Amino acid sequence: MAIVELLSLSPGFLITVCVVLGLLVGSFLNVVVYRLPIMLQRDWKSQCCEFLEINNETPDANESSAKFETFNLAKPESHCPHCGHRIRPWENIPVISYLILGGKCSACKSKISLRYPSVEFVNGLLSGLVAYSFGATWLTLALLLLTWCLVVLTLIDFDHQLLPDDITIPLLWMGLLVNAIDLGFDVTLYDAVIGAIAGYLSLWGFYWLFKLLTGKEGMGYGDFKLLAALGAWMGWQSLLPIIILSSLVGAVYGILMIVVAGRDRAAPMPFGPYLAGAGFIMLIWGSQLNELYINTMLG
Ligand SMILES: [Zn+2]
Repeated sequence: MAIVELLSLSPGFLITVCVVLGLLVGSFLNVVVYRLPIMLQRDWKSQCCEFLEINNETPDANESSAKFETFNLAKPESHCPHCGHRIRPWENIPVISYLILGGKCSACKSKISLRYPSVEFVNGLLSGLVAYSFGATWLTLALLLLTWCLVVLTLIDFDHQLLPDDITIPLLWMGLLVNAIDLGFDVTLYDAVIGAIAGYLSLWGFYWLFKLLTGKEGMGYGDFKLLAALGAWMGWQSLLPIIILSSLVGAVYGILMIVVAGRDRAAPMPFGPYLAGAGFIMLIWGSQLNELYINTMLG
């Protein structure tokens, strides 16, 4: 394992490599966040039409994708949504291109959303944090994948109130695999399996209780699968802290939005971003948080 040995020479070098990798992958994650929901919508629509035996002729709800026959993660190539200008390689360097271009399309000068460089920047930062915490190991590689999936799920859920099965389910299997082959995560396969089951069932139970009591749906099945995946990665012991953390942050954010931004109380609020955020916090600072908790509880 020459690469691993080389990287282990200097932690600073490893972290730098992972930050740069995170920036580059962040650029791709932007594409996934934008395109995957559209691809799923198209797929569901054509399946519905096939089932109902009607013609699939109504255009996409999304205008900028409607003009493309083929629409997947690779095609059409990245372009400006306003003028169709093809993004050249030098215009696609994470964060840097945005700064050089002054946040504007080089052809039509319309504004590029600040969200793209922000996602790249944050993804670089989180990737560096994973490398810093877990060092030059295969586990780091696996945890980078987990982190990138959590970033994608967070953004798609914010945009569409949707946590695609295409991401949550593989993430669950991957978590079980990581602990089955023992990549050094300190979670036994037993804890991981119970984590996956308990993660799913706890929110599922809460969902039905809430529905029976209030007649409303408090969350979606995607949330159960996401918590199951986190349980598979981090073991059942991490589930309660994740639920508490995510509910706290979600409640504070929700109240802030209602009070400050005047948001409608009844408007649906995605829970996935808070689960994903709490999962990442537990991943990096889990043992410190547990220690803090035990110390406070025991006085
Ligand atoms: Zn343009």
